[in-house]
Parts: sequence; structure tokens; C-alpha cells
Amino acid sequence: MHSAKKRMWILASILLLAVIGYYIYLYFEPDPQRISYNEFIRAVDKGKVAKVYLDDRDLLRGEFKGGTEFITDNPRKEGFKEELLKKGIAVDEMARQSQIRDTGSFLITMGVFGGFLYFLSTKTVKQAQGGMGKISSISVYPEDDKKVTFDDVAGIDEARESMKDVIDFIRNPEKYARYGARLPRGIILYGPPGTGKTLLAKAVAGEAGVPFYAVSGSDFVQVYVGVGAGRIRDLFKKARESGKCVIFIDEIDALGKKRDRGIDGGGNDERDQTLNALLAEMSGFKDNEGIVVIGATNRLDVLDPALLRPGRFDRHIEVGLPDVKGRYEILKLHSRGKPLSSDVDLYKVAQQTVYFSGAKLESLMNEAAILAAKRDSGYIEQSDIDKAFYIVMAGLEKKDRSTIDRFDREITAFHEAGHALVTKLIAPEHSVSRVTIIPSTKGMGGFSMNIPPDRMYYRKRDMENTIKIALAGRAAEEIVFGQDNVTTGASNDLERATEVLLDMIRRFGMGKSTGLLNYDVLYSNGIRQVSDEVLTQCSETMNIFYEEVKGLLIMHRDTLEAIATALLEKETLDEDALDQIIMERDKGRETA
Ligand code: ADP
Ligand code: ZN
Repeated sequence: MHSAKKRMWILASILLLAVIGYYIYLYFEPDPQRISYNEFIRAVDKGKVAKVYLDDRDLLRGEFKGGTEFITDNPRKEGFKEELLKKGIAVDEMARQSQIRDTGSFLITMGVFGGFLYFLSTKTVKQAQGGMGKISSISVYPEDDKKVTFDDVAGIDEARESMKDVIDFIRNPEKYARYGARLPRGIILYGPPGTGKTLLAKAVAGEAGVPFYAVSGSDFVQVYVGVGAGRIRDLFKKARESGKCVIFIDEIDALGKKRDRGIDGGGNDERDQTLNALLAEMSGFKDNEGIVVIGATNRLDVLDPALLRPGRFDRHIEVGLPDVKGRYEILKLHSRGKPLSSDVDLYKVAQQTVYFSGAKLESLMNEAAILAAKRDSGYIEQSDIDKAFYIVMAGLEKKDRSTIDRFDREITAFHEAGHALVTKLIAPEHSVSRVTIIPSTKGMGGFSMNIPPDRMYYRKRDMENTIKIALAGRAAEEIVFGQDNVTTGASNDLERATEVLLDMIRRFGMGKSTGLLNYDVLYSNGIRQVSDEVLTQCSETMNIFYEEVKGLLIMHRDTLEAIATALLEKETLDEDALDQIIMERDKGRETA
């Protein structure tokens, strides 16, 4: 292993020196002398020309017998070679390579080599396992030689589970084809930066044992029209040649953003062309090819709907910030091979790193290891981790979520506990699959998954319950923290509540004094004066609901606090844990 690494280093150094030497040579080599065609003919006649490079361009390069180079027009192509040969002039029909003498490409080559050397210096060189793809014309992520597997991914179990079938699809496409199943061609992983989307995609390739091609959406934009589309075709061509593989497109929103209506007018031609090329390539897959395209984005809602249609990127998997248990798993993973002192309690570290992404946790452990190495005391101690914590935090933006203060967390916990408890109290037929105070990409502080039963018709009381559940977050805030401390966290809830209430009054004839009229029909017939009445009735009804919810929460305040406390500690509660807390409280009340 060690000598392999050494050999790679020596090889890289020799290559680097050779390239530098070549460019220095090109740089000092005199520019060819520019001569007219007539001068050239005369030189030929006088036997002064030693060699000519012919290609199919309109320019002709050559060398005089003294070695000086010249360049001239080449108006004739047919039969020219014979004529020159007859005169004893050597003819080379290969294009001369000296087009690349400009410093720009010199710098690029240097950059590539620099990157290569850096890559060597940071990674242990192992034999490539499972193969890895490179696309030369597109910048490809520096590949780890190390095969990434699911063992390298922690704390995002749901996303990891969802990717499991994808691996089976890649491994055995024939099996699925036999049953006539349409394989997923495109998968979108969405979630905040650093949560392991790239890692997960790599792990899929690693687990399936196929090459991994990675590009970034931003590589395809801001180039000339048509170039991006060409690069896409290039990418897929290379991928196809390698057979089964995973193609990963990071920042896919860069090429598949919603087309802005209005301002942008016709939209961005280059981006559209690139996007269309991507869609065309994807629909050109045969179902049993075993090629899967995985796109990553921070936000799903900015993507062009064309990208998300069936047969395209039709699987969407959220990769969210890890909760405390997830963070614990990730910390454990990134402590592998690090000598932790016995005073380190990783679970405690997990509790102190709310809103940290996997990437941040990785860098926390890495900084701690660096500090420990500097001290050279043999172990990473808790104090190293504490210091690393400040280093990592200092490197973050102020508005970063991980600096959210304790008060915000508490408010969020009570807000979410309010939603969850009221759901359980008034609409037990809803399932609350999860309550969490970890912000999701969809929303504000935290969010409760509250799934109403699937029905054809909704009863009036179902709609009222929906409104009450939406109001419960704000109500809990008010009860616990007082009227002056309620937050903006309820804005989505109020939007939802207002929509449902308006529907009840205007469309479903469920308003108290507004009767069975459809207000949209009234409006479209020019009868507009009802609006004040609708407004008054809405806000009155809303207040009645709100007071009712508040009363309910006050009555069950102990349960509310128990749920909020559990949320502050565990951050996420599943339905069982929630039921457990409510049951215990109920029992307590009965015996009291
Ligand atoms: P994303 O693509 O979502 O921005 P990455 O996959 O690039 O995030 O994550 C960067 C690094 O952070 C990974 O290489 C890994 O070291 C660490 N990391 C992030 N999420 C996880 C996770 N869930 N489990 C283990 N490591 C993680
Ligand atoms: Zn809410």
C-alpha cells in the first residue's frame, strides 16, 4: 500500500515536470514567421523549405531549412502534397499541436495537476474498486478511490432505506423488466447542504458496484448556447459506454430551475437547451440498461415541473438535517479510527449540536482531531471537541440555523406540541406520524406530519378540525409564553386555516349566516357587496375556534408540557412515543 502511494507520487512529479518543461519550451520557442503565399512559393522554388504541416485548415505551417517556422495561407488543397513531395519537401498531414501554446491552457493544466497532487496528498491511494468514471470535458468531482458504501452513511435512515431498492434496480434490471415494471430513471435528493446527498448517491454506486459519474449543474450553464447540451450528450455517451452506472448531477436546479414567467420573457435559451438535452437523453434509456440519474438540490420547489414528470425525475427523497439520534450515529461514524478519550460522551455532543448537518459534524470531529494531534497527548478529549465546536461555529454564517437560540427552540417545541396534542384530542382518526422541532426544507421551525384520513367527502367537522389543528401551534405559544411573545412561526398555519375557512363559507355553504350561496358565483355575477360580511364572519368564527383550542390546551397543559419537554430532549417523536406520553398523563390525571 505504502509503496504504491510512493510510486504514484513519483509518477505524478515526473509528469508535472514534463508538462512544465514542455510549456517552457513552447513559451520560449519563437512565434512562426508570417509570410505571404507568394513568398512561400518562391521559398519552395529556391529549395529553402524543409517541411510542411498540412491539415484541412486554411493555414499552412512549415519549417525553413534553418529551422525557423513560418505560417502562410493555404489556398490549394488537392494535389498539393504530391507537388511538395516531388520537390523534396517533407509533408506531415497531422495537425500541428502548437495551438495550445497560450498561457490560459498552461494555467488550466497546472491547475489540473495541482488538483491531482492535492488529491494524492489527502487520500490514501488504493486500487480503484468498482471502477469510477471520469468525464474529461466536464469537471468531475475528485473521486475517492475508496469505495463508498452504506456503512459510510449514518443518521438519515429513511433516505437510505428509500435508496435500497434503487440498488436492486441497478443490479437486476432484467428481473424488473420481466415483471414489466418501469424502473426509476431519475431520483431527486433534496435537503439542506451537507446532509449527505452526494455521499448517498456515491454509496448507491458503491453498493451496486457500478461506476459513479458526478457533475454539477452549474458546469452546464454560463457557457455558449449549445455547449451545455453538448456536454450533457457527452456525459451520457460516456456513461452508456460503461454500461450500468450512477450519474450524479449536483445543483440540478442550476439547469432545471422553474422558468420565470414575465421578467425573463422567453427564458434562458442555454438553460432550456441543456435541460431539453437532459430530458431527451433520459427518455432514450432502455428500461433494462441499469443507468440511474440522481440529482441533488437544496430545494425541490424551485425545480422546473418538466423535470419532475413521470419517467423523468419522478422519485423525490428528502434528506433532512439529522435529529439527535442521527447526529449521534454520524458522530460515531466519524470517530472511527479516531482515539477518543474515555471522558468523551458522544451522545452529549449530539445533544449540543442541534441543527448541525452531517458535513458540520464531520468537520467538528476533524477539527477536534487536529487539536488533539497538536497537543500530541494520544487521545481526543472532550475539551478538544468543545474548542472545535467554537471553531466550526465561528466559520458559519450568523444566520445559520445552528445558532438558533434556546428560546426559539422552546417556542418551537411548544408550538409543535400544540399541533400534535390537539390532533390527538379532537381528531384521533388523523395519524400524527412524526412531530419534530428540526426544521424541514418545507417550512418554518419544525413541523408535524398530520395526515387526515383519505376520504371522498369531508364533513363540516373535519374541516373545522383542520382549522383547529392549524391554530393549535399559536394557541400553545400564547398559553405558555404570553400574548406578547407569540411569534411569526404560525404564518403558514394561519394561511391554511384561512383557506379552509373561506372554502367552508364561500364554496360549501357551511357559514353560519352566509347561507348556501356560492360566493365565487356571486362575485362573477357582479355581486360584490358581500365581502365585508364574509370577512367579519371569518374572523369571528376563527376567534371562536381559537378560544376553543386554547381552552383545550389549558385543560391539558401538563400533557402539552410533557410533549414539549420530550421534543426538546429528543427533537423528534414518532406516533408511538407521542401516544405513550399522552397515555401516561391521562393515567396520572385519573389517579389524582
Ligand atoms: P450534500 O451533498 O448533501 O451537500 P455531502 O454528501 O457532500 O452533502 O456531505 C459532505 C460530507 O459530510 C460527506 O462526505 C461526509 O463526510 C459528511 N456527511 C454528510 N452527511 C453525512 C451522513 N448522513 N453520514 C455520514 N457522513 C455525512
Ligand atoms: Zn405550526
